[in-house]
Amino acid sequence: MKKKRALKKPVKKVKKRPTKRPVKKLTKRPKRLTRKPVKRPTKKPARKPIRKPKLERKVRRKPEAIKTKPIKHEARRPEVRIVERRVSRKTDVYFNGRVACEIKNPADFVENLRKKRRMGLISHQMNIVYYPDFNEVRVNTTHGRTRRPLIIVDNGKPKLTDKILKKLNKGEINWSYLIQHGIVEYLDAEEEEDTYIALKPEDLTREHTHLEIDPITILGTSAALIPYPEYNRGDRINYGAKMVGQAIGLMASNFPMRADTKFNTLSYPQAPLVRTNISDILDEYPEGQNIVVAIMCHDGYNLNDAIVINKSSIERGLFRSVYFRTYETIKKKYWGGQEDEIRIPEPGIKGYLGEEAYVDIGDDGIINTETRVVSDSVLIGKVSPLRFLSAEDFAADIENRRETSVTVRYGEEGIVDDVLISETVDSDQLIKVKIRDQRILEVGDKLASRHGQKGVISLLVPHEDMPFTVEGVVPDLIFNPHAIPSRMTIGQLLELLAGKMGAMSGKSIDASAFNHIREDEIRKVMKSMGLREDGKQVLYDGKKGMQYDVMIFTGLAYYMKLDHMVSDKIHARSRGPVTLLTKQPTEGRAKRGGLRLGEMEQQCLVGHGAVLALKERFDSDKTMVPICTKCGLVAIHDIAKNRSYCGVCKDSEVVWVETSYAFKLTLDELKSMGIYPKLGTEEI
Ligand SMILES: [Zn+2]
Repeated sequence: MKKKRALKKPVKKVKKRPTKRPVKKLTKRPKRLTRKPVKRPTKKPARKPIRKPKLERKVRRKPEAIKTKPIKHEARRPEVRIVERRVSRKTDVYFNGRVACEIKNPADFVENLRKKRRMGLISHQMNIVYYPDFNEVRVNTTHGRTRRPLIIVDNGKPKLTDKILKKLNKGEINWSYLIQHGIVEYLDAEEEEDTYIALKPEDLTREHTHLEIDPITILGTSAALIPYPEYNRGDRINYGAKMVGQAIGLMASNFPMRADTKFNTLSYPQAPLVRTNISDILDEYPEGQNIVVAIMCHDGYNLNDAIVINKSSIERGLFRSVYFRTYETIKKKYWGGQEDEIRIPEPGIKGYLGEEAYVDIGDDGIINTETRVVSDSVLIGKVSPLRFLSAEDFAADIENRRETSVTVRYGEEGIVDDVLISETVDSDQLIKVKIRDQRILEVGDKLASRHGQKGVISLLVPHEDMPFTVEGVVPDLIFNPHAIPSRMTIGQLLELLAGKMGAMSGKSIDASAFNHIREDEIRKVMKSMGLREDGKQVLYDGKKGMQYDVMIFTGLAYYMKLDHMVSDKIHARSRGPVTLLTKQPTEGRAKRGGLRLGEMEQQCLVGHGAVLALKERFDSDKTMVPICTKCGLVAIHDIAKNRSYCGVCKDSEVVWVETSYAFKLTLDELKSMGIYPKLGTEEI
């Protein structure tokens, strides 16, 4: 009976409840939730504000600027709360990163300060920004901020009017007038976050605060040198800008007088034919040359990004550059009246390099200008006092001097360009020797266009073997068409076309970002000059003299020689120095190091079955180590008595084991950590 009742009752209850009660609850509860936050402060203002808000208050109340949507989200998530500081809701003002004061009305404060800056009452170098999220106002006047000029916009109208522009063109007013009169202002990165900048005057609305002087100003200096950038993919602009930075150009016009540690100079720099308004400004310091380019394959030598170059163009001076390096030394004075001597070291001095090494040195101890020097040639002969005299030195009665001459770095050569003798602030004599080395373009050098399309020269073809056009034009450079589709650098194709038009018409072409000669105009001009509008041309094979089956896209492009030349990188070693710690070869070209054979290269040799090559590669630090057969530690070998014994066991048997010195070092390091590495030895 009990079971039956128990079964019946729940069934009835389940049927009733879901239909009536949950529906009511669902409709009521949300109403309460929405009403509660609104009603409670009005109904019970006395109790609640005193008890709870003292410790916690909802986020939305703090900032004054946020008014609309976020309130609903926070009402649903009451657990998100921030413990409020005891200080009032005033806004902190930071001046150059330090708290300066508190203010009540940040928006007004910022606006007022900006107004004063525009009126010229405060320095125009001051920038101010209000962060509602942090409830902070930041005022910055420090150095090192990157700032850029923008036209101030008031009620949707730029302050730089046509009237002012006319005055500016006539030369009645200048740039500083615009800044002093609140027409243009410089913003730093922080204040820029607080603005709404229009790119073009026609985009202006009432909400805008500033207008770009030119849309190209959204790009940096290097990126602004790229022609037709808006036709390229964004990452290519980045790469292109980076390569412009690596380009060898004319660094400074006074370079013959300068003594920088090292720099490159392009011998025959050219202003770009296809230019941007920024390259007009940087005209005096160009970074490349205009060359004739054909996009085609050539004997398989321009696979991937490899470049085929006209050898005769190089002989005519294409991308020839000069590398300069300055070596210097100071004739120091030491305590005890000793000092360095600048002279030809004589035999008997510690570290004497031999008579031949000092042949080119003059009587004053310094090399003469226009002398050809190679690696390790002595430039400045110098003799210094010995720092420490060993017992052997005393016994040998060696002169208290050592050789400290300045020599040409390993792997470098050139001609002595200049010698400078000066003084340091401590009135020590300072000698600088500048070396110059002409760098003729060669296989392995790196070239790049301004569109992030870099390549390494793989073949130099004589002029007569290069393809040619009907007119007899021979390209300077050939690059593979496969470089285009994946990178999508359409700007480069346009540059080639515009370059061709510029070369034919004798004009430089404006290719500034967003504002340049349009493609259809170029096509029109090309047509009027009797050329194909698509830039394609019939080319003939230089070797066979036969016409190619397809038309080839040719044009003129501005190319740059990048600062990665093979002559700086080429390196090989048979014998050479080893490091003291591991007895393994040193690393790096400058230290005459070996070429590291890594784990993967090792696996290649294993895969080839080249065991002997592997053995030879890995025994660079081979050593024979005496091992005690009893305790398994490295024993001692007394060379004088020609006897080996264990320092621990004294009279145990010692065997010699062949191992790498690095392993012996590992054993020593383990011992230094209190670990006992015991070696078990066995006859094989
Ligand atoms: Zn032992």
